[in-house]
Amino acid sequence: MTWHAQLALVLALVCPATAWCSGKSDACSSNPIPLRQFNALNYQANTCNLKWNRGCTSLDKHGALQQKPPPYSLCNSGHQPAGRVPVDAYTLSLQNNNFAPGSARWTLHGLWPGSVDGTGGKNQPYGCLNGEDFNETILTTFDGLLNYFWPTNAKFNNTMQCFILSEWMKHGTCAVIPGADGTAFRLPQEDYFRTAFVIANEFNESPTLRNQLLEKVKLDDVEPLISTRCVQCAYLATVGWTGTDVASVPRMSGDCIDQCFECGDFWDTCPPAQLESTVMLNSSNAPREKRDSSSNSNATASFPLLEFAMPAFMSSENSSPWEGTWRSFGAEEGGSGKFEFAQTFTDNVLTVTTDSPYPRTCTYERRGPKELVLRCGGDHLEDCLVQRLPDIGGLEAAFLACNHTGEPAPASFYAAMDTKGCGNFLMFRCKASAAGCSFSPDSISASEPKTETKTEPESGFESESKPSPVSHFQPGIAGAPPALLGSWRSLQVDSDYEEGLAQWNFTSDGQASLRWPNYPSRAVQRYSVSHSDEDPSLVLLASASGTITTCRFQFQYQPVYSYAVLDCGSAGDNEEDTQNTKWAMGRCNPCSAHCRYSCGAENDFCGAGSCDPAESVEAASVDALPSLFDNTRATLKDDHDWCTPEDSGCWPTKTAIRKLEQELDPTVPRLGLRWHSYPDPQPAPVPMGSIDNQSFYGLGNAPQGLKALYYYEDIAEMQRPCFNQADPPAVYNTASDMCKAAVHQNEYRNWNPFIVVFPLNERHVVAALNFAARHRLCIATAGTGHEYNSRNSCPTGGILIRTILLKDKTFMPTWHEDSTLAPAGAFRFGAGSTFAEMHAFSKDYSRVISSGWCSTVGMVGFHLGGGHGPFAPSMGLGVDNVLEIEVLQVGRNTYGQPVVHKKIASRNRNPQLFWAMRGGGGSVWGVVLSMTIRAHPVPDGGLSRVYMSQTGTFCPDDSSKFGYQWLRGMWTRFTAWQLSLNQKVSTQPGFFINTTLYNEKRNLCSVTWEFKFEYFYAGGQAERDYIRFRDGLKDVLQTDTVWEDNYKSAYDYLVSMPADKFTLVPVNPLPAQHPPSDVATGSQNSVLVSRQALKTKFTSTMMDVLDICVKSLKNPDKTSPDVSGYRCGFHYLYTSLTGNLGSTQPGDTAISPGFRSALMLWNARTLTTQQSNDTVYKLGPNSYFSESSYVMHNWTARYWGEKAYEQLLGVKKAHDPGNHFWCHHCVGDNPDDAFGEPLGAAAQADFGDQPDAAAQAEFVEQDKL
Ligand SMILES: Cc1cc2nc3c(=O)[nH]c(=O)nc-3n(C[C@H](O)[C@H](O)[C@H](O)COP(=O)(O)OP(=O)(O)OC[C@H]3O[C@@H](n4cnc5c(N)ncnc54)[C@H](O)[C@@H]3O)c2cc1C
Repeated sequence: MTWHAQLALVLALVCPATAWCSGKSDACSSNPIPLRQFNALNYQANTCNLKWNRGCTSLDKHGALQQKPPPYSLCNSGHQPAGRVPVDAYTLSLQNNNFAPGSARWTLHGLWPGSVDGTGGKNQPYGCLNGEDFNETILTTFDGLLNYFWPTNAKFNNTMQCFILSEWMKHGTCAVIPGADGTAFRLPQEDYFRTAFVIANEFNESPTLRNQLLEKVKLDDVEPLISTRCVQCAYLATVGWTGTDVASVPRMSGDCIDQCFECGDFWDTCPPAQLESTVMLNSSNAPREKRDSSSNSNATASFPLLEFAMPAFMSSENSSPWEGTWRSFGAEEGGSGKFEFAQTFTDNVLTVTTDSPYPRTCTYERRGPKELVLRCGGDHLEDCLVQRLPDIGGLEAAFLACNHTGEPAPASFYAAMDTKGCGNFLMFRCKASAAGCSFSPDSISASEPKTETKTEPESGFESESKPSPVSHFQPGIAGAPPALLGSWRSLQVDSDYEEGLAQWNFTSDGQASLRWPNYPSRAVQRYSVSHSDEDPSLVLLASASGTITTCRFQFQYQPVYSYAVLDCGSAGDNEEDTQNTKWAMGRCNPCSAHCRYSCGAENDFCGAGSCDPAESVEAASVDALPSLFDNTRATLKDDHDWCTPEDSGCWPTKTAIRKLEQELDPTVPRLGLRWHSYPDPQPAPVPMGSIDNQSFYGLGNAPQGLKALYYYEDIAEMQRPCFNQADPPAVYNTASDMCKAAVHQNEYRNWNPFIVVFPLNERHVVAALNFAARHRLCIATAGTGHEYNSRNSCPTGGILIRTILLKDKTFMPTWHEDSTLAPAGAFRFGAGSTFAEMHAFSKDYSRVISSGWCSTVGMVGFHLGGGHGPFAPSMGLGVDNVLEIEVLQVGRNTYGQPVVHKKIASRNRNPQLFWAMRGGGGSVWGVVLSMTIRAHPVPDGGLSRVYMSQTGTFCPDDSSKFGYQWLRGMWTRFTAWQLSLNQKVSTQPGFFINTTLYNEKRNLCSVTWEFKFEYFYAGGQAERDYIRFRDGLKDVLQTDTVWEDNYKSAYDYLVSMPADKFTLVPVNPLPAQHPPSDVATGSQNSVLVSRQALKTKFTSTMMDVLDICVKSLKNPDKTSPDVSGYRCGFHYLYTSLTGNLGSTQPGDTAISPGFRSALMLWNARTLTTQQSNDTVYKLGPNSYFSESSYVMHNWTARYWGEKAYEQLLGVKKAHDPGNHFWCHHCVGDNPDDAFGEPLGAAAQADFGDQPDAAAQAEFVEQDKL
């Protein structure tokens, strides 16, 4: 019996089903539970509104009927775009059976199709209902099989009927096996169960398979990912199997078993089956059976291979997918070539005709559907991987990666590009259906091209100097679409003549050039470039003579190396234009840290959306777009789609959490966060009242230290504030471990993470990111937790990746990228490093770093946001010192699935990202693993510190020394002194108002102030300027009491301070007293004050601010953060920036112009929005990102300026197109949301509601039905 006939027989058995329980109607149930989730993109609404039959209901705790499983878990295909369900893996949920005597050792809980999202299987399509109702007859037919392989666990109080019904309706209806042309075939119900039985049987019977499984997970309940191909194999084994007893279950072939875990951890090599249609598998439309007639292997010959999800792979029933001639070019070398594959597979011959590097005929052996082993000439064996790529622009595409070293073929193109000794080629040929596409299979022309325009003689690429640009005059947006930027190896593929390899180069200044490496004498053709606003794939090339050519740019993103087609038709007839030409092109992805080829500066235009993941958004055809992207443009995904506990489809199960924990090496000790004893530096923030000055409230104090992972077992607890204003500090110690693990500066929104992880290395961060992407969790990152505005927190309970334990440090005497940038060497430090640790480390090398003021602050947050400090005027702001950043991001593979990339950002690598991460703030660019910054020599004469203070009152009468009127004079003197400062001085003046006595005395003379004035002088105390500034300040404050110290290192300064010096700065875990609003703006209202504004407006503005304080004493305002309702607080008036005389002000970072040129940073506490607008904000248009108020209108303009913000957003779109990384008032947040309500005001208000604990418990158990 042929395979098709067997299939028909199977189907015939399925069809005459009886006793249907209609999933679509209410016939089975009168239960009125409404559908709670519906993804409009997926399937028909009516089929989603599924109600189970009455047998599958139970009473909830209120006595109401509830459905099992709840209907809201259906019709949710997660992020899948309309009509498509990518199934690239199946989750095989098995349990090591200990509950059903007489059943298999390993029993099934489920076989769940899913999308791996790079590494996992939880992004599952649910309820892909297309009229498939549950045919209950299988409960009888498969009674023996079900009870043996798929028994019901009594602990869930379920029936076999409901369990199996739910497995089918929820998961089985989405089960597909891939066919050709991207079509996937849905498995009918009986086939689905038979396939699952075969797999379950195989895992019980095959030691090989079971060992592979147990290598992955050593638990009793396992949920490994198995490949779609494995399921396809199991399905093929069922063909012709009609038995219903356990003994009759067919075995999978050995080949098949090998394929179950073939994807390893690299799912981008395993393409998904895109369920684009609802094609049900039957005899007429089943995937065509392919037999490789060339293969001598009996095993392969007897095994019907279904071509595996390779679009258009099978051009006709009997022909080889490789038949025909392919034009190709080397990815890394200048050669072009032609791989002429054998016309049929029977003769095993591949003729390779190329200019390099294969001038031979090769024989080949086909190894599976996507690999060939080439034997080229004599005994030289090349192990090659040949794989088809998605078609593009009327062309079929493929790549060939050959390992010249005798080692096995690389596992993927991605791997090939990073494997030494691999020759990599892109191959193209016309699609059979593409009219007019016929580039010649004949020999490569060695002659000069027919048309040769010597408009600009050149002897070769290298010698060309300063070409004159072609000016822009064509319509459209000037410049190439970002995905087109870079240098492309290209082949002209439209016409009969061949000129070998060409090189297109598109630069960010809107210029393009076309060169011919094989014809060095030929002129370079130059164009200016523009593109259509509405359709960025429409590109206009204008030549110097004015001819405009319109090209259609089509783009296919691949990991590391992408390819494209530029199809140009001329609007003019000048011979120098690219008239009717079509180019197949390939290039390294910009910003690809992994690609060892051609990733020089020319392919690193990371500006405005050109980095790899986003390239596919800008220019790929819409069909090929990853699902998370909006429409056709490279828009950031604005509407957050974070998973919530209510969404069982994505919310992590305990099994998944345990698996993540295993990946984090939980037994490795996480120690070292204890602040052993003063004067050792504090390695981490010290929460107020924390036991024994332990970071994280003593969590980790036990000998085993911190755990790898903490999470809320009880979701209700997650939704409660962790700490309470009413509690004394001692009570904080009784907070849950989870609260302690997540501790950070005071909360404005009660956003607790669901999971906190403490990675120890890059691998751990990758695991956490994969987990987060898979479960659609909002990702927050924190080191120390100092951030003032909850930028280390996510709404909805996401994941908090706490990098505090990444503390590696290295000193590099020479900075490899450019030693002139760091003449005194460089420090690389892990993302968990604090100022104090860095000062200790740099002292060992007699160096100093330009840190901030307070020892406990983390290096990463400081450098991302800007960074002012005691040495900034002489050594630069934090951002000025960064040399390199190592960051992990969540990008997309070809199939739109999230994958974790590592990027290095520096002046030469990913320069736009580098620009953005120096001042763009927040954690929105990915998780930083390490940074490298400049080391500075300790200045001659050392580091001199000066401390003075003055106190006074608010006594209004003129005669009071140090009274209110005296203050006006002091501010004027202070201003003059500040303006005189040179780059050696950096100040930290704090003006503190004390109102505690006022409540009792109601007298302004009882209101006191203290001006504590600390500053550093980068040099010795004998220097003239040192003396001048010190004496000047004595005059300002009218004091003779001065503390003066001199240090050889910044660390010496830290340890010389009294033990309580830093008691001012612990991380305060208490929630803000008032919800954010215009009257309770939170944190501090900051303004960067220019020299001019300081000179002309500071004194009067300060007096206005003090007047606000005085008025509030008379009319307290309950919304003030001050408990008495006053608006007094304190003010920091830093001159620790780059506005001093003689300071350098580099312009290459993302901080605002106001930050760059400001002389003073004024951080004012307790003002309302209106009061800030009337006073401090009038002093300058910019605020400091890292020290500012939680509530801010026009925050994009105040932090960066609108223009820079647009650029930052472009970089953000390019590097985090799925918007995985979010933080409050960070790049990518809603610019119109002044108050920080990403879930909307209503949702914020509801967020504190206590959820029903029982309902929450159900979510956890739900998937165990
Ligand atoms: C007491 C105190 C004193 C301060 N003094 C100064 C000062 O003198 N000069 C100055 O300029 N600023 C100062 N600041 C502000 C400080 O620079 C910011 O609060 C800064 O964000 C703190 O960084 P952090 O890493 O310690 O904090 P965190 O809260 O751990 O992180 C801060 C931000 O950086 C992100 N982040 C942290 N680690 C990573 C990572 N590995 N990958 C990606 N993103 C990450 C977080 O998500 C968050 O958005 C001070 C703050 C406090 C509370």
